[in-house]
Amino acid sequence: MNISFKNNHSKNAIFQTLSNNEYRLFYIENGKNIRLKNDEAKEKKSLLENSGFHIQEVDSNYLIIERGLDLQTHLRFPGQDHKETLEGGLSSAFHGGYDSLVAMPNTSPFLDNPALLKSTVEKQASAGQNIIRVGQTAAATIDMKGEVVTDIALLKEAGAIAITDDGWGVARDDIQDEVFKRCAENNLLFMQHAEMPGHGGFATASDFQKKFEIPEYPNHVESDMVKRDVELLRKHPKARYHVLHVTTKKSVEAIREAKKEGLNITAEVSPHHLMFCNENIPDYNGNNKDIVNNFKMNPPLYGPEDRQALREALKDGTLDCLSTDHAPHDFDSKDKFWSEAAFGTRGLCTALSTLTTLCADGVLAYEMVEYYFSKRPREILSADGFKEARGYIILNKSTKWTVQKDDLPGKSKNSIFLGTELKGRIEGILTTDGYWQDSL
Ligand SMILES: [Zn+2]
Repeated sequence: MNISFKNNHSKNAIFQTLSNNEYRLFYIENGKNIRLKNDEAKEKKSLLENSGFHIQEVDSNYLIIERGLDLQTHLRFPGQDHKETLEGGLSSAFHGGYDSLVAMPNTSPFLDNPALLKSTVEKQASAGQNIIRVGQTAAATIDMKGEVVTDIALLKEAGAIAITDDGWGVARDDIQDEVFKRCAENNLLFMQHAEMPGHGGFATASDFQKKFEIPEYPNHVESDMVKRDVELLRKHPKARYHVLHVTTKKSVEAIREAKKEGLNITAEVSPHHLMFCNENIPDYNGNNKDIVNNFKMNPPLYGPEDRQALREALKDGTLDCLSTDHAPHDFDSKDKFWSEAAFGTRGLCTALSTLTTLCADGVLAYEMVEYYFSKRPREILSADGFKEARGYIILNKSTKWTVQKDDLPGKSKNSIFLGTELKGRIEGILTTDGYWQDSL
């Protein structure tokens, strides 16, 4: 794993002086994050220094938050090494500021049986060492076909942390009803990729979509499934329903209503849907197919109005948190005409900087970044071993950087953020094992 500690020192702390003469001290004790303020921070700093601690001093230009949890990562493990290695995915999570991630089950083969799930969980734990924790989801239906519900009790026993058919929505009402029932019985979060199937679309209505005559991806397929799920959820008050990568105003409105009603529903937004819309898709120029196709993902980018609704929904709490839907691909899968190219963009290494860019632009508040990136995803998952962050991120708010392929660890380079200037960059990470500093 490509993680090195420049200051390989077991005793580390961060001391921050804020502009209004306030102080903060951050360190880890017995695996737990400790955060002190003002006089307490100053007193403890002297004590730590006397006992041989390395103290990293930073000013108010820095945002110090706990390390994050990503609720939606495609690790491509097992079976898809040609897209990304397990180490590449874990290293991307580390460099992006995460200490934990939740991996999707649409691997090769799909994770729908307890034996394969168990061996996968064991291999991930050993690859992540003590640095990145992986929570593995299991499929909701056999072969992720939406026809036969998996043995959710046995999958839980084998280590499943949540249930999802991500990549596809569970279309049949009777099957979704049974999934809610079994998830509730086993107290496992159910995560829906909300998309009613059969629409045949690959891009939402835009000048780009019309120019290249790409079949249209309609605006209602996501909210149709969310509304159907909400109806079923009323019958299962103990089920926990989470909507993955929300993209439209219609879905936001349905989620807002369901929350008002008091239903057990949570929802996330991805960095690319917060940052981009379908007007940002670049034109093909003859040799940039891979770059253009980084704007192709499922669910797709809609127009500026939908993007605006997502931003407002994150601010008002209708959308709970940020999740990456990190989806690595090999070059060849993206180097095709739009309709044939693979869906998905990377996201782990740029997610936090996406949030701070939106803060710098006045769209979001810096005070909320830790909640969206770490605290709220942990509450939603509510799984043992993932409830508390281990370590802190030191991010320089004033650093501007333009994302290049070299900034992305791992095999895959398919990031929609390539060439985009972001505001705010991670400079250091404090873990239970040491203090890491450098940009890769
Ligand atoms: Zn999905």
